[in-house]
Amino acid sequence: MKPIYRKLFGTGVLALVIGNSLPGMAKPVAPPPPFPTWLQALMAEAEARGVGKATIEHALRGVKPIPRVIELDRRQPEFTLTLGSYFKKAISAERIVKGKKMLERHAPLLRRVFERYGVQPRFLVAFWGLESNYGQYTGVFPVVGALVTLAHDRRRAAFFRQQLLAVLQLIDKGHFPPAVKGSWAGAMGNHQFIPTTYRDFAVDFDRDGKRDLWNSLPDIFASAANYLSQSGWQKDRTWGREVQLPRSFDVGLSGLEIQKSLAEWNILGVRQVNGKPLPDVVVDDASILLPAGYRGPAFLVYKNYRTTMIWNRSHLYALAVGHLSDRLVGKGKLRAELGDINPLSRHDILDLQRRLNALGFNAGKPDGRVGPMTSKAIKKYQRRHSLPADGFPNSQLIEHIKKQS
Ligand code: CA
Repeated sequence: MKPIYRKLFGTGVLALVIGNSLPGMAKPVAPPPPFPTWLQALMAEAEARGVGKATIEHALRGVKPIPRVIELDRRQPEFTLTLGSYFKKAISAERIVKGKKMLERHAPLLRRVFERYGVQPRFLVAFWGLESNYGQYTGVFPVVGALVTLAHDRRRAAFFRQQLLAVLQLIDKGHFPPAVKGSWAGAMGNHQFIPTTYRDFAVDFDRDGKRDLWNSLPDIFASAANYLSQSGWQKDRTWGREVQLPRSFDVGLSGLEIQKSLAEWNILGVRQVNGKPLPDVVVDDASILLPAGYRGPAFLVYKNYRTTMIWNRSHLYALAVGHLSDRLVGKGKLRAELGDINPLSRHDILDLQRRLNALGFNAGKPDGRVGPMTSKAIKKYQRRHSLPADGFPNSQLIEHIKKQS
């Protein structure tokens, strides 16, 4: 499982759940095995993987499943998030002001981290702001207890068992104590790393023998930079930019799967928001994104945007990181109005997916979320009916499809 999983089930800052939960919509989960037997087998596996006996005893003594963790795991937001509602919360004026201060205060350290790992300071601070509000919220759940709960539970047992074993190994090596706190799904520290990301990418930049992502800013910044750098971050490039599209633009050209050079996008009439042509730099993997549909803002995004999506698979998150990083160095607000589009509910999306499938546009297994397959199916449907093919669902589209089926 990729690290991105983490943020789908992260801490409070970006959990942004709107409305009531709909427990009835969750898939039924098989009952878990008897806990004592399960725990015995887990302890044996940890030992077989080289975790010291004393650590296992200490970390798992008296541990029990935490009902609240299961409750949070089953929670489903009723409404999908819109770009506007997400940005309002993720990029508040307060967060920008504080981020600018942090950028200034830690400039020498951030500079050293940049020289070593090649991730520009404004991005490291933007990730930091979105993940934990600059270290303010790193989670209050006991990580071992939360992961024991989720590994014992059957919904994603294999994934969380792997995370639990990684945490036990890190405790065994002394990077943090057994009582370590994190999100209810086990994400830890200032950048909310899941245990396997912690294990594979965290670094001891201040050389005190510990990889401490709570108290050591050198470790915190360097670990995030190391993770990004190893995921393909490019030090001499930005993430992307807001752009203007010509009226005649074929919105079917939007989406990460369509990549062109800046020169090609220029020929297609894509312009900077100030009306000027795109900069004359060699970029050949730029994609147009319309995250709020063809009436909303348009973005041209580059490789570092794709890398941000390795960290967290959400477009809204990746756009927020990019835009916050711009705001931290004094760039302006988005030009386009984000507006208050009525969010679609999970029921709407489920219904849309079923209708698309029934009409032969493959939207995948209906799950109430607009993923790449659903977006592709919507695009096909829009093309078939000569609608602007932006792959973005809205209430007009839902009305349209209801008339077809
Ligand atoms: Ca350290």
